[in-house]
Amino acid sequence: MDTLNEQQKNHLRTVLEAREQSLRDEIRREVNLQDDYVQLASEVPDPGDLSFANLSIDLGNAAVTRDMTELRAIELARKKIAVDNYGECISCGYPIPYERLLAMPAAERCAPCQEAYEHTHLDGMKGASM
Ligand SMILES: [Zn+2]
Repeated sequence: MDTLNEQQKNHLRTVLEAREQSLRDEIRREVNLQDDYVQLASEVPDPGDLSFANLSIDLGNAAVTRDMTELRAIELARKKIAVDNYGECISCGYPIPYERLLAMPAAERCAPCQEAYEHTHLDGMKGASM
């Protein structure tokens, strides 16, 4: 079984830390941007401009939500490194290949399990909309 060696684990930890840092910066920027729009909305009485500002706030929220989701996944991955069960697929329990972790260090599943998960998830969505 190809479990991660210490060198690989250390490298992925560095990648995760760098990604976490840039995500935090990104979120800070997005939140600052929203503050500017909120300011704009309260200063401009024109309803047209106001709705544009509101729309921009919504888009900002979506970006923040996406970043927060990734940030949580990264924090989870870093906790797993700390307790030494990082790189293990949460669906089948086998080690996730190093190459996959390099591309997606916060991945929780191996490629086949992720595919199966997304397939199930999409089918569920389809059923719910009918
Ligand atoms: Zn798996």
